[in-house]
Amino acid sequence: MKRHQRKVGRTTHPESLMMSHGYDPQLSEGAIKSPIFMTSTFVFKTAEEGKSFFEVAYGLREKRPREKLGLIYSRLNNPDIEILEDRLKLWDGAEACAVFQSGMAAIATTMLAMLRPGDIVLHSVPVYGGTDYLLYHILPQWGVRAAGFKASDGTAGLERAFEELGDDAAKVAVIHIETPANPTNGLVDIAAAAKLARQHSRGDRPVRVVVDNTFLGPLWQHPLEHGADAVIYSATKFIGGHSDVIAGAVLGSDAVLEPIRTHRTILGTMCGPWTAWLLMRSLETLKLRMTSAMKNARYVADFLADHPKVRKVHYLGHLQEGDPQYEIYQRQCLGPGSMISFEVVGGEAEAFRMLNALELVKLAVSLGGTESLAEHPGTMTHSDIAVEDQLAMGITPALIRLSVGVEHPEDTIADLAQALDAM
Ligand SMILES: *Cc1c(COP(=O)(O)O)cnc(C)c1O
Repeated sequence: MKRHQRKVGRTTHPESLMMSHGYDPQLSEGAIKSPIFMTSTFVFKTAEEGKSFFEVAYGLREKRPREKLGLIYSRLNNPDIEILEDRLKLWDGAEACAVFQSGMAAIATTMLAMLRPGDIVLHSVPVYGGTDYLLYHILPQWGVRAAGFKASDGTAGLERAFEELGDDAAKVAVIHIETPANPTNGLVDIAAAAKLARQHSRGDRPVRVVVDNTFLGPLWQHPLEHGADAVIYSATKFIGGHSDVIAGAVLGSDAVLEPIRTHRTILGTMCGPWTAWLLMRSLETLKLRMTSAMKNARYVADFLADHPKVRKVHYLGHLQEGDPQYEIYQRQCLGPGSMISFEVVGGEAEAFRMLNALELVKLAVSLGGTESLAEHPGTMTHSDIAVEDQLAMGITPALIRLSVGVEHPEDTIADLAQALDAM
């Protein structure tokens, strides 16, 4: 049995458990849905109980077998956050989860927990703009350096990045991967990165592989099964799925999550109960939404590939046998997802004319919501990357990124068709 279908009682599929797992109605007047526990603090039954809860929370003694952390204060824990974490764990087959108030809070808290002054982060290129800023403008102030390897260069690129560091290769503490890469859908081999990480690990300081799985997860790619130590999500995207909430999550083993949770408690980067409740509501339809969007995206990608005003389409479902990217896709991905990017014939002016003509598809950044969204990476999400670097990554002035939603694909295609005609 696959890990992501791990049995919980008799029920084996996460989607069957999203409505109930981790919640006991009898603790809340029989309410079928978890109430929103809008409370900052929790009343202890006795002083002894308060003492005992703090002993566990602050690591003053080992937890007793099956003992759960008692409810103390909503920066440490809260029922909505805990139920959400229990449900998120099922998709990735993870032992532990921590949720955050944004994807960036998840990434920053994880980096701070894993890195020390002098350490190096190796990362795939391109990475999300906020991650790039953290790596090149904030972490250097704490003595942490970053070095990139092109996602499109595959495993050889990562090996070369280690070689180019020479003696400094011993300082690599984290390999941070975004796969598929935004916006070009380039794939990085997670298992190969995990193997390299093990080769470069020392007993006292392991090299951690962290995968930002926002684009395909938690349904179509499970990085922990391929040897990653931690999986990160911007839950703002597919997990939230309705473009109405900002949140993040990190998943992995208890050992990997323990220092991340401590950092979250002290930095105060956890999400609130209202956000957790919204995400639980979203998780009930996660599989429906992601399956529908993925199905629609195939129609849209096929339409674009055949259109005379479209020069190139980057879509995982179009990878061909014999392409090394196809081999990675076969091993690592369970579906092509719903992110497409494509180059129109022409340049920025033509791309803008097309974007301005869209009606049903909205011109906005972000992705993974129920509505289709289109944007221009070169001047929007990736505008802080130098133009030469953009071109080297495949971000041309004619490139448009499209997140396909759950609208009827005929309507999405009709809108794209009229916008391409207006170009
Ligand atoms: C959006 C995004 C983030 C940042 O998440 P926020 O929730 O906006 O903080 C990080 N990584 C990827 C791949 C993203 O798409």
